[in-house]
Amino acid sequence: MKSHVQVAVIGGGVVGCSVLYHLTKFGWRDVVLIERAELTAGSTWHAAGGFHTLNADTNMAALQGYTIRLYKELEEISGQSCGLHHVGGLTIATTPERMDFLKAARAMHRHMGLDTEIVGVEEVGRLCPVINTDGIVGALYDPLDGHLDPSGTTHAYAKAARMQGAEIYQHNKVEELVPQPDGSWDVVTEQGTIRAEHVVNAGGLWAREVGAMAGVYLPLQPMEHQYLVSDDIPDVYRRDDELPHMMDPAGGTYFRQEGRGLVIGIYEQDCDPWSVDGTPWDFGLELLPDNLDRIADSLEAAYRRYPCLETAGIKKVINGPFTFAPDGNPLVGPVPGLRNYWSACAVMAGFSQGGGVGLTLAEWMVEGEPSRDVFAMDVARFGDWCTHAYTVAKVRENYQRRFAISYPNEELPAGRPLHTTPAYGIWKGQGAVFGAAYGMEHVNYFARTSDERIETPSFRRSNAFDAVGEECRAVRTAVGINEIHNFGKYEVTGPGAEAWLDRIMAGRLPKQGRISLTPMLAESGRLIGDFTIMRLAPERFQLTASYAAQAYHMRWFARHLPARGVTLRNVSRERLGFQIAGPRARALLDRVTGADVSNEALPFLSVREMQVGGIDAIVARISYTGDLGYEIYVSADREVPLYEALAAAGKDLGLRPFGMRAMMSLRLEKGFGAWMREYKPDYTPMETGLDRFVDFGKSDFVGRAAALAERDDPPPRRLCTFVVDAADADAVAWEPIWKDGAVVGFVTSGGYAHHVEKSVALGFVPTAMIAEGATFEIELLGEMRKATLFRQPLFDPRAERLRG
Ligand SMILES: Cc1cc2nc3c(=O)[nH]c(=O)nc-3n(C[C@H](O)[C@H](O)[C@H](O)COP(=O)(O)OP(=O)(O)OC[C@H]3O[C@@H](n4cnc5c(N)ncnc54)[C@H](O)[C@@H]3O)c2cc1C
Repeated sequence: MKSHVQVAVIGGGVVGCSVLYHLTKFGWRDVVLIERAELTAGSTWHAAGGFHTLNADTNMAALQGYTIRLYKELEEISGQSCGLHHVGGLTIATTPERMDFLKAARAMHRHMGLDTEIVGVEEVGRLCPVINTDGIVGALYDPLDGHLDPSGTTHAYAKAARMQGAEIYQHNKVEELVPQPDGSWDVVTEQGTIRAEHVVNAGGLWAREVGAMAGVYLPLQPMEHQYLVSDDIPDVYRRDDELPHMMDPAGGTYFRQEGRGLVIGIYEQDCDPWSVDGTPWDFGLELLPDNLDRIADSLEAAYRRYPCLETAGIKKVINGPFTFAPDGNPLVGPVPGLRNYWSACAVMAGFSQGGGVGLTLAEWMVEGEPSRDVFAMDVARFGDWCTHAYTVAKVRENYQRRFAISYPNEELPAGRPLHTTPAYGIWKGQGAVFGAAYGMEHVNYFARTSDERIETPSFRRSNAFDAVGEECRAVRTAVGINEIHNFGKYEVTGPGAEAWLDRIMAGRLPKQGRISLTPMLAESGRLIGDFTIMRLAPERFQLTASYAAQAYHMRWFARHLPARGVTLRNVSRERLGFQIAGPRARALLDRVTGADVSNEALPFLSVREMQVGGIDAIVARISYTGDLGYEIYVSADREVPLYEALAAAGKDLGLRPFGMRAMMSLRLEKGFGAWMREYKPDYTPMETGLDRFVDFGKSDFVGRAAALAERDDPPPRRLCTFVVDAADADAVAWEPIWKDGAVVGFVTSGGYAHHVEKSVALGFVPTAMIAEGATFEIELLGEMRKATLFRQPLFDPRAERLRG
């Protein structure tokens, strides 16, 4: 065994072996994998081996496509068979809602290069003759679906890695991880200690324990999962072709051919988290006892759907545990708060995702950043707010919803409310309907009637439509109030604050009392943040950005923070407050402060510290509604008194609370982008129009070379605003944009803009096609809708309201 290595990968399941292989593929040869038992000894050995590309996140789906296409290459390099069966797969729909869901997925696949197609009932029966088609209304066919041999595939990764210099130490448990001052780790194993520059936690079922060795909690939980293998069935083995994979979401089952019989797997509602308090180290290559009672309902449904099962016996039942994160996607990347400790765990579909996880991690470690936005599987999408109780509740919910339709307006209840602000009770008393992000509750809208108390999940306009419309109109005609707790907020102070911010932000820093907007770039020039910077004093700044990106941004800040001279604090949950927005916002502010808030004293993009309702506050003249507006920040314990002061003073001004649904509608008609929709690490400043905030004259900032290169050679696509001839469904995201019968772009977000009374979409199209009034088509739920391009904001195009 080596005593010093560049990377020690802990865990020899399919994921650890894929990471090892990809590190060698990217040229790192001094890499080892340490396995406590033998390769595949965790979840991997008993997997059903199915693979598919479907994922709600487009980049995750693309990485699943990468994984599936990789197997051939792996077989060629290693000479080891992966046991591939590329049989194609069908996801069936038994309701119109499911059909809408599949059509939306199909539309999304068009610009991702996935060749899925919608097929009718007859085609379903033709492709899968053993199915009973009763109640089926259609299906989505994916030619990439198939299955493989889990053990052969894992060994193929391992062999290919070994052939390029990697070493694998089996029967050697990692017992302790000791951080060293230079950022490396002492990996204490049963066979001795290895000094590793980097460690990768690919511990699968034991990833929580391997996290605890470094003092971190990784939010994942194993679940029991059962599948059955049938005896031989003549209807199956007498066919020439192998049957396709079948997913019956309504029945909660998946199905495929296994030799001369069938495999039926079940995601049951009555599901069981496994080993909630930790995975025992002595859990070996063993299965859990069957529990057919738990899956009886789904089995009955499966027997009705595939009648040939009725005459077949069951050869074996597999019940094994595998891990999930709270949202079902993997936990990948540098673990916030640690140096050189990488996560590659919570991979619930190792044979669909393992290759993409290995590729992403290798890019990140070797090249410094992944080649695409991987926030959907970034370990930093969960912060220290994510408790174990929350994880277990969400994992259970996720397992139950494995086949559920995901509606764009849906809010899932498990584990909530987790975090609330002092204003929560006020909103509740006013009929608020809540959503949550990054563990924090926020108001979506205020229900006016009992019918509006729960928003109906839908791809079409929901029952909240009118309530949201009223809130939008209140903002545009009087004044609205909305909580600003769900911004990530950071305080940066000290003699080195200005120089540091100037280096990590691409834009110009504001003068004292002013506000600037700036992108933050990776070295590659891609967007990793969209910040508002307020300068409160020469050496004191407040930054605001996405609430959900806190751990992501803090990880980046930590990487760049100098040893001294700068103090950085995440004040997201201690600094709360409200924005007031609309034509009467100034009149309202004037009533609750002694300070001069005239346009001359407090113009657009200025910031002052003042008393508001007798409370020390930071008041920023800015509003994401695109209207005359102010953000008022106070310490958390003063939030309720601030509300009371504003509410009392605003009564006769028509003050009305509004939620995030209205907020998103208002920003759309102003053409303002949102983080992780229009602005994310897949896009650049020029593509998104954020180049207007980049200070190209600055001598140095992270990403400068790439930003300059882009300025000199502009990108071929740009973000635009479209007005869509929609009926009862608006664009959401990822819908293809067509021109002359070809897909030329895609939507980043959309919705109904209530004030201008138009259905609006933001999206990318080729620069050459951009012209005022140019027409396109956007595919909404399988229907082509005319979309007209507008180069000016639909609301307040001359920014008179914003600046007036
Ligand atoms: C019944 C069932 C059916 C499934 N069907 C499918 C399917 O059809 N398709 C699909 O894609 N996925 C399927 N899965 C899920 C799949 O098995 C997992 O996604 C995959 O195996 C995860 O691999 P992994 O490498 O992350 O974890 P694991 O396989 O759990 O590997 C982790 C490894 O780390 C080792 N290890 C842990 N701690 C230490 C330590 N301290 N020192 C040294 N070694 C350590 C363990 O011994 C183990 O070998 C199924 C799972 C189950 C249970």
